[in-house]
Amino acid sequence: MVESFGHIVGGHEVPSVDGATFQSVDPGEREPWATVALGSAADADRAVAAARTAFDEGPWPEMGYPERAEVLHRLADLIEANAEALALADTADMGKPISETRGHDVPRAAQNFRFFADHAAITAAEAFPMASGYHAFAQYGPAGVVAAIAPWNFPLMLASWKVAPALAWGNTVVLKPAEQSPASATLLARLALEAGIPPGVFNVVHGYGPGSVGQALTESPGVDRITFTGESNTGRAISAAAARNLTPLSLEMGGKGANIVFADADLDQAVEWSIKAVYTNSGQVCLAGSRLYVQRDIYQEFLDRFRAAAEALVVGDPRDEATRIGPLSSREHHEKVTGYLDLAVRDGARVLTGGRGPGWTVLPSVIVGAGQRDRVTQEEIFGPVVVVLPFDDENGAVQAANDTPYGLNAMLFTKDLSRAHRVSRALRVGTVWTNCFFVRDLRAPFGGAGDSGVGREGGAYSREFFTEPKAVVMRIDPA
Ligand code: NAD
Repeated sequence: MVESFGHIVGGHEVPSVDGATFQSVDPGEREPWATVALGSAADADRAVAAARTAFDEGPWPEMGYPERAEVLHRLADLIEANAEALALADTADMGKPISETRGHDVPRAAQNFRFFADHAAITAAEAFPMASGYHAFAQYGPAGVVAAIAPWNFPLMLASWKVAPALAWGNTVVLKPAEQSPASATLLARLALEAGIPPGVFNVVHGYGPGSVGQALTESPGVDRITFTGESNTGRAISAAAARNLTPLSLEMGGKGANIVFADADLDQAVEWSIKAVYTNSGQVCLAGSRLYVQRDIYQEFLDRFRAAAEALVVGDPRDEATRIGPLSSREHHEKVTGYLDLAVRDGARVLTGGRGPGWTVLPSVIVGAGQRDRVTQEEIFGPVVVVLPFDDENGAVQAANDTPYGLNAMLFTKDLSRAHRVSRALRVGTVWTNCFFVRDLRAPFGGAGDSGVGREGGAYSREFFTEPKAVVMRIDPA
């Protein structure tokens, strides 16, 4: 059965202004599974107008934090109650193994709403008592209309990472999910209405980026904040578009995470976490540890163990709970990733294990013999592919790790605490994980250096972005 998903504008599920639709293809079946409204600039404008009206006329921006928090907690409850439908929607749209959509993405989406609801409630204002008959305080008022542009690799989870803080601080939102993964955005907006979020506060418009919905949102004078997650080149285009209206933006972009394994590491743990770092979501993770630097003394032993663990991963049907590597998100993406495997060989490296799998899958792949400046080492492949390189000493590892245009994150495995501190400080990235991967505290800053990001989100960092901090200074008359 083919399902249908519309835009959500002004509290209603609606078709496109011109009636256009597109189909979302299930990468596991390689067949369309859903018909989706295909928006254009006119649909983006309509949604921005609905969000503007909801912002200007209220009640959402003026509601007390506890009241908004109550509604957002209700939405989190509904996400949990509808977890299976949401998990299946993301798996059908982009092929993520169901164990991950069930076990991680959907619970995290609910947690994002709970966390930001509570965080907004306890961090509403700061006072700055002044010595000389004046009193100053900060107000964190909502910024206005937020355009949230999301990628396909964590459709629901990353949409909620943007929508939850935006709503918690009293903004209204237009979400544009990626065209590859539209379904869970409409499902989420349906649940938001059921939870009691007023009409027009949370809108969804489906469609493409350049020359369409995405571009129209970034060029709209009615938008007060743009929060984007996606490729670095898209971020550049969005920055240029946003510059016209001086719209503040937050960009979370691509990565080429370095994972540094020192000779003193607990090898069992290092292998287990490194496998997760490379192959979670079939490698389609911005934070993937796709460059694995292993100290030369343990290089061969680590590589043998890593290879065995990679070859043991279950590849197959994303709806099977046992599957660890599903299909890639689309035919085009499969071509891109397998193109990098061919390129590695052309450049003189070797694919030690892996390669093309059935359908749109790529087997867990390990490239050895590549150079630091080779394209497979420098560019984001975004599939289940790791480049493994040896290193000799700490300085060499740090230099190599810092030697790409990206700077999202890095991992290091060592038992030496002082080294962990030294290396963490020297890495030019937004997140460093020591002896682990992907563990998050939602209060901590999240974002990237270099081509990986502009700005940070999470906790108070999200507050800075999604509010318009205002200084209020009052003179106090003497008695
Ligand atoms: P993408 O840049 O192709 O698309 C992301 C979104 O931007 C989509 O909704 C798309 O329609 C829209 N878009 C494209 N061009 C646009 C334009 N000119 N104007 C406005 N909107 C436009 O990225 P993707 O392929 O969906 O996602 C994968 C990328 O996202 C990878 O590079 C990955 O590393 C990155 N990513 C980063 C993070 C992070 O937190 N830093 C998290 C997840 C994914």
